[in-house]
Amino acid sequence: MKQAGSTCDASEEWPDSHLYAPLTERQGFPMLGFSNCMALAQNTLYDLKQIVGAENVLTEAEDLIPYSFDGTAALQQMPGCVVFAKSTQETSSILKLANQTKTPIVARGSGTGLSGGSLPTAGCIVLCLVKMDRILELDHANLTMLVEAGVTTLHVAEAAATAGLFYPPDPGSMKISTIGGNVAENSGGLRGLKYGVTRNYVMGLELVLPDGEVLWTGNKCVKDVAGYSLKDLFIGSEGTLGVITKVLLKLIPKPAAKKTMVATFAQMDQAAQTVSDIIAAQIIPCTLEFLDRMTIHCVEDFAKVGLPLNCEALLLMETDGHPAAVAEEAAQMEALARKNGALELRVAEDEAESNRLATARRSAFSALARVAPTTILEDATVPRSELAKMIRFVAAVAQKYQLRIGTFGHMGDGNLHPTFLTDERNQEEMHRVEEAFKEIFDEAIRLGGTITGEHGIGVAKKSFLPKFAGEAQMRVMRELRRVLDPNGILNPGKMFDV
Ligand SMILES: Cc1cc2nc3c(=O)[nH]c(=O)nc-3n(C[C@H](O)[C@H](O)[C@H](O)COP(=O)(O)OP(=O)(O)OC[C@H]3O[C@@H](n4cnc5c(N)ncnc54)[C@H](O)[C@@H]3O)c2cc1C
Repeated sequence: MKQAGSTCDASEEWPDSHLYAPLTERQGFPMLGFSNCMALAQNTLYDLKQIVGAENVLTEAEDLIPYSFDGTAALQQMPGCVVFAKSTQETSSILKLANQTKTPIVARGSGTGLSGGSLPTAGCIVLCLVKMDRILELDHANLTMLVEAGVTTLHVAEAAATAGLFYPPDPGSMKISTIGGNVAENSGGLRGLKYGVTRNYVMGLELVLPDGEVLWTGNKCVKDVAGYSLKDLFIGSEGTLGVITKVLLKLIPKPAAKKTMVATFAQMDQAAQTVSDIIAAQIIPCTLEFLDRMTIHCVEDFAKVGLPLNCEALLLMETDGHPAAVAEEAAQMEALARKNGALELRVAEDEAESNRLATARRSAFSALARVAPTTILEDATVPRSELAKMIRFVAAVAQKYQLRIGTFGHMGDGNLHPTFLTDERNQEEMHRVEEAFKEIFDEAIRLGGTITGEHGIGVAKKSFLPKFAGEAQMRVMRELRRVLDPNGILNPGKMFDV
């Protein structure tokens, strides 16, 4: 039976993805040793140096290694070179050259992606945008900020705050992730429940198309329905349709007050019920984050913020807005947590404590990553009403396959991050990890959810996309891709094989 909101039939078999299979066997993206690094044609390298200057082209193996992987576990591939663009004009010239020579080109921000989106294609040009990191304009009259694609999310948030404004999207990686990467992945964050995701703050984009043509889509108008909304097509397109060079962002007024609190529970269901009760009470907190026992212990060990350890689940809750509304909502949330048997409830006394607690949650991935050689983080997402079921299911899968899984995530969004702590050198265990993932994705779909809530398809989930999206959607996506990039040079092999 097809699930609401999905074209996928969860009863069908998943294709054999081999994502977590031995490195040499991965479908579509064989792991190549560094010796297999393909060289770019000398005249292409010469032309690239003419465009950006020799100091902005990396070709030595030791310089290329840091660009041969992103934040995704167990995927690595050497590029032919890395090129740093400093302007839209340079980006356009680089793409023109790549298109003429039919050289694959992979746009890259900070490489924090968790689905292998900026993983190089063998011998490709990695086009790195981090040197385009200027804030170009802050428009107080229209509450917008125009930035270059390589600026970090934190820099944007801080510049907005300095001007007394607010840029809400706050992915856990915001200290280093770029706005270009955030737009290309349509990233979410801890405040997604109340404020939405990156898409909700993009008013316009400057893009370079694969043939080098520069295109502007969107503007400062709050309302604009002239033609197709092309900007929305490019948001979340994972670097497969065009390279983002500038972003026009929407800012909002800074909330006057906020209150942060932590509640711990002896049982997972009590935390899930508290979340359901808060939403049913028509309170939309800006943050409703969840950590399970394993994650709490790892985070405390890592960040030492004094988290309570005698519990199965922890909720980080934050409400913001008018001081009177914040006080009322915080009191209601506290009462609901207590009604559901909270063991301990701690309200942050000041901004510093509130930031410490949010930082603890942000460090969940890094904290778990210290425990095992390979950390595989997923983002199966379900409707909020199905969260408790999904969390129980993940725990049962961990037991069935004898795997260590730490689960945390954006509970208010139904966006879970079951994180497998494993070792990619253990092939038998990696096979169990893969089987466990298939079951988790199946269950997410059966519950009306999706295979990725914010990390994208990239390489990691491309074998799962056809079953989830269905034939018609796959055909339309492929055709759009072919129209915009007939030579298939942009991020080939990501999302789907062209
Ligand atoms: C510790 C940690 C926490 C994280 N927390 C979150 C979270 O809370 N929410 C969330 O959504 N994600 C999260 N992520 C995932 C990741 O940080 C985001 O996907 C982020 O947006 C990637 O930005 P980046 O600059 O690193 O992009 P990259 O990883 O370099 O690239 C990501 C994709 O975007 C494309 N791309 C990059 N720049 C451009 C451009 N200028 N034009 C066109 N395409 C481009 C690349 O080709 C690739 O497909 C987390 C990752 C880590 C490591």
